[in-house]
Amino acid sequence: MTLTNVIEVLEAAYPPARAESWDAVGLVSGDPAQPVRRVLFAVDPVAVVAEEAMEWGADLIVTHHPLYLRGTTSVAATTPKGRLVHTLIKNDIALYTAHTNADVANPGVSDALARAVGLAGDLVPLQPFPDDPWRGLGRIGELPEPTCLGDFAALAAKGLPRTAMGLRVAGDLARPVTRVAVSGGAGDSLLGTAKAAGVDVFLTADLRHHPASEFVESGGPALIDAAHWATEWPWLDSAASILRESGVTVETRVSATVTDAWTRGY
Ligand SMILES: [Zn+2]
Repeated sequence: MTLTNVIEVLEAAYPPARAESWDAVGLVSGDPAQPVRRVLFAVDPVAVVAEEAMEWGADLIVTHHPLYLRGTTSVAATTPKGRLVHTLIKNDIALYTAHTNADVANPGVSDALARAVGLAGDLVPLQPFPDDPWRGLGRIGELPEPTCLGDFAALAAKGLPRTAMGLRVAGDLARPVTRVAVSGGAGDSLLGTAKAAGVDVFLTADLRHHPASEFVESGGPALIDAAHWATEWPWLDSAASILRESGVTVETRVSATVTDAWTRGY
């Protein structure tokens, strides 16, 4: 298999044309003609992930987050990102990113998150594309049985990989919960949409004090704020499955290395 074969499968599942205009998705480094036998999936293109790729003998790393989002004029090994580019090229490891195009795909990042926190049955986008009701940001789904906010938070914490800070909950723990909205990664732009959707709780990441406080005060759904990395990590296995089931004969591995920015809670 060549890198081109693998990219064709990834781009069918996550069309780059669906990425946000500010995003930087696709092939970051690597030769399309190079052979690919082992593919490592990870959230972040960081040094520890490159080390894992080298140890395992990966030919390609597929990450959710872009290495260079805002462009650069240098890949000198004088910065962490430039150093990473050197490590990758010296070791014949390609790097490919599927970011906002994976967020809005079906199945995408929030489908995997929804399943990880226990949602069952059909999932619909929280903010569907005007031209496609089955694709878009976030997902709304239901729990198989009604529960309360406290028990749902415990279920979500169990379903997500462990991180230093775990989950933060805003709202009455006894509040009944059946309908849940989720959005992998920073989801505060979707607070208003989640409120309008009338869900019982909105689970996302990177929420800030003022928007969260005002949201709960105004009678919106309860909020659960998880670690950014943890909300996107479940997608890695979904993407790896799509590659394995495509007929492309490659070995896949999902990195379990926690690369969330927050490494310790006190
Ligand atoms: Zn993210």
